[in-house]
Amino acid sequence: MLAKEQWQKVTQCPSCSSSSTLYSGKLAEKLYKCGDEIISAPQEGITILQCNNCRIYYKSLIPSALFLAEVFSKESRKIWAEPYDFFYESQLLKNLNHHQPFDILDIGASHGHLLKALSNTEGRRSALDIIQYPGLQPYLKGEFIQNFIDAPQLVWSGEKYDVVTMFDIMEHLYSPKNVFKNLASLVKDNGYVLIETGDADNYWPQKYGMEDWWYVKFLEHHIFWNSEAIKKIAEEHGFTTLFWEIKKHKSRRAISGHFENLNQMLKMGLYIFSPKIYLKIAKLNAKSGIQPWSPFTNDHIFIILQKK
Ligand SMILES: [Zn+2]
Repeated sequence: MLAKEQWQKVTQCPSCSSSSTLYSGKLAEKLYKCGDEIISAPQEGITILQCNNCRIYYKSLIPSALFLAEVFSKESRKIWAEPYDFFYESQLLKNLNHHQPFDILDIGASHGHLLKALSNTEGRRSALDIIQYPGLQPYLKGEFIQNFIDAPQLVWSGEKYDVVTMFDIMEHLYSPKNVFKNLASLVKDNGYVLIETGDADNYWPQKYGMEDWWYVKFLEHHIFWNSEAIKKIAEEHGFTTLFWEIKKHKSRRAISGHFENLNQMLKMGLYIFSPKIYLKIAKLNAKSGIQPWSPFTNDHIFIILQKK
């Protein structure tokens, strides 16, 4: 049994603290699914707000960190288990470090797929996550920091890293300011931070409404970024943007073009034709009717930051 569901209100932009909003839309779903858990949303419903200042989107109600950690612990074998080989990212990291040994901390390391891709290279291979997932241990060659990267006070070795990676983490944050403060202390001068997260400026949410984007339907997704907002908060914490691009999600890049996309394309076609009919057919088939994910949309931001 899970502890009582705990929710917290978000009354100002978690990134820039402005309470002025530009847009608001209510999530239609009353339930979240996470692994095998079905979690009821609070009675009043969840609204997606857009900050009038930095233009990020955020939810008005989010699960507390403690509650989320508990759900994740319970579902740890089922969530994030989708294998991805991180081949492209590991090559990029080697090039970035001029094929010299480097120390890396992977934030949200989950089952250790990125550290596994780097297991034949030299240097510390450390991880930070809220729980230690099965499978990480063989690839850990450094410290394991058990915490949220948002923690106001991180307990860690104090030995700084050449690279810190945050793949699919920025959308989970409670306090981006704490995160960037922590990043600034974790990374060596001239060291790098690699970030990948959803791009709220992409076609689907902009055309159909943020509250209908499949990406906002996760219990653990709290913030939806645009590249300018990431660059801005990074700069405020002593980083420069070395490189950025809008691209497909890392796991989608690998399978894009394969036959398995056909089913997804049919769903997409129907949704574009009529979201209402799509929802009706989905409900007849006991499916949620959440907007299908498009294998062709560049809906993620990839950024390399360097510490000044
Ligand atoms: Zn803001």
